[in-house]
Amino acid sequence: MEKPVFTGSFTQQEPIPEAAIEAAVAVMRSGRLHRYNLVPDDVGEVSRLEEEFAAFTGAKYCLAVASGGYAMSCVLRALGVGAGDKVLSNGFTLAPVPGAIASVGAEPVFVETTEALTIDIDDLAGRARASGARVLLLSHMRGHICDMDRLMEVCDTLGVAVIEDCAHTMGAAWNGTPSGRHGLAACYSTQTYKHINSGEGGLIVSDDAELMARAIILSGSYMLYGRHTARPPVDTFENVKLKTPNVSGRMDHLRAAILRAQLADLPAQVDRWNALYATVETGLRNVPGLQIVERDPRERIVGSSIQFLLPGWEEARIRTLLAQCAARGVELKWFGAEEPVAFTSRYDSWKYAPEQKLPKTDAILAGLIDMRLPLTFSTDDAALIAGIIRDEVQGAIRHAAE
Ligand SMILES: *Cc1c(COP(=O)(O)O)cnc(C)c1O
Repeated sequence: MEKPVFTGSFTQQEPIPEAAIEAAVAVMRSGRLHRYNLVPDDVGEVSRLEEEFAAFTGAKYCLAVASGGYAMSCVLRALGVGAGDKVLSNGFTLAPVPGAIASVGAEPVFVETTEALTIDIDDLAGRARASGARVLLLSHMRGHICDMDRLMEVCDTLGVAVIEDCAHTMGAAWNGTPSGRHGLAACYSTQTYKHINSGEGGLIVSDDAELMARAIILSGSYMLYGRHTARPPVDTFENVKLKTPNVSGRMDHLRAAILRAQLADLPAQVDRWNALYATVETGLRNVPGLQIVERDPRERIVGSSIQFLLPGWEEARIRTLLAQCAARGVELKWFGAEEPVAFTSRYDSWKYAPEQKLPKTDAILAGLIDMRLPLTFSTDDAALIAGIIRDEVQGAIRHAAE
């Protein structure tokens, strides 16, 4: 019998919704794309997006910027992180995170990873003490959220400020609190492969008035910050406006218009992602040799990708499995590869950071497999994909036993 093959694309997103297209066309017809190009009584798409995203997360203030990476470097700079400072971060994350730390001249201090793919809080405490770092750029990598109550307690005790990288947790929550609302500030990405899509873009939220005033000036507001509506009170800017450099990274009305309609749809999209995730997870359960990454019941996830572990598998067997899945149309990413591939990368490939050893993270990455779940997949697609992976893992195990 012919083996079933999946023919969909793992990188194809859904079209931009019609309402967003209409809003974008209206912006283009107006000719006013720059965020400060407003007519009297017009708040503009960017400020509207900021108000709506602040409400969505429950934050007091919001700033829309050019990318998720820009959002992180902007917050670090606004916090006063600079040359030679040490910043804690996850050993398991994506390149823009250590990149944001390096962009302000600071040095990443990587922290170990647990089997839940979250930051190892005990190791974090040890490395915070040893390095003297005062800031943690916490990456909720692939949407895995650590015990945020415990993490905040440890960081508060150590005097470490927490900045959350929520590129993969927009719409997620920990224990009922939206992801991004535990730390001092949070950064989101609206790049094509995240949860709302404007090609490129980023958002910052915080309740800290002075930090947000600095971030707004940094983003390139000139002396037009008064036009923001999701900003701190105008007098907060008095102290900072002449002392804070302009490092332009604004969002424009076109992208904001596209995002507003998508933000309104996000809760429904999260349910669709989670249906795909649950289907794949169920399909991969009870497969010998394959370990599911169990989710904490306190997490409200956004299942836009799924990860599993192949503990103890040798490199050659993993490569064979990936090739066999690929031959049947299933695109898996492996975090154990020596050289960075596509969007996947490892802490030891960021050679601009001081060399560090993370044996626990190495052991986990050696068997960690990653798969995107775009919303162009149906739950039938998800079941087919899980069936193919299950089949090929079972085949590999039989082969090894022969
Ligand atoms: C995508 C991503 C970011 C930010 O990305 P930009 O491409 O700069 O918008 C940050 N952290 C993680 C983990 C990401 O995957």
